[in-house]
Amino acid sequence: MARKFLLCFHDFSVWNYQKVTPILETLKDLAGAPFSILVIPDTETAPSDTVRNFRATLAQLKSEGFELALHGYKHKAEFSQGRSYVGLIAMNLTQGEAEFAGLSEFESSRLLHAGLDAWEKLFDKPEKPAAFIPPTWYSNKFLPTQVHAEKMLYEDRFALVTSRGKRYASPVASFAGIPDFMTKAAFKFGDIVLKIPVGLPRIALHPVDFPQHEVQIKNLIRTALGCGRRLTQYKDL
Ligand SMILES: [Zn+2]
Repeated sequence: MARKFLLCFHDFSVWNYQKVTPILETLKDLAGAPFSILVIPDTETAPSDTVRNFRATLAQLKSEGFELALHGYKHKAEFSQGRSYVGLIAMNLTQGEAEFAGLSEFESSRLLHAGLDAWEKLFDKPEKPAAFIPPTWYSNKFLPTQVHAEKMLYEDRFALVTSRGKRYASPVASFAGIPDFMTKAAFKFGDIVLKIPVGLPRIALHPVDFPQHEVQIKNLIRTALGCGRRLTQYKDL
């Protein structure tokens, strides 16, 4: 089996699509193929014409072959009720972005379905997303089962498990939300996991990486392709 890698652009939303879409197109040209975009589905408080354009942009990206995956609901926790102590710590570490962290079974399911409902409103003919990735990868013990029950692949920080239960060890190179002095080490880590011929490495990108880390990110994608890995998508796992 040919070695593969995933390129995943996180946090695409109604609030940033105008700025981010040209970056996606540039990266697609460099990578030679469309890749996975992790969409924050909530558009509740956005102006209606912005929502309309966001929906049109998603349809356009999909028609170009980009894969759209579900990335939480609001990517911002609404409240701390029913969250475990560990979940509260995760919320603190991520400035409240870890919306699924430590939730009870009921709250986790409620939020997952809020995300799926918001997702359906984004498309004329909605299809179930191939994958669900909890914001910041912080989770709770119920979420993987809940995601699989909805026939979606579940991703955490270290691995992917398809809806059919196939597990991939998947080291991730990610550059957002880490201190500047760690950035160099993160790129080195990415370089190594792409070159070592095992696993299914992921390059996880965020809007804040651009333009700050653009040059290094492009080099990392070139490295991945240069060492014989093929870009894949969640749906093909
Ligand atoms: Zn995110």
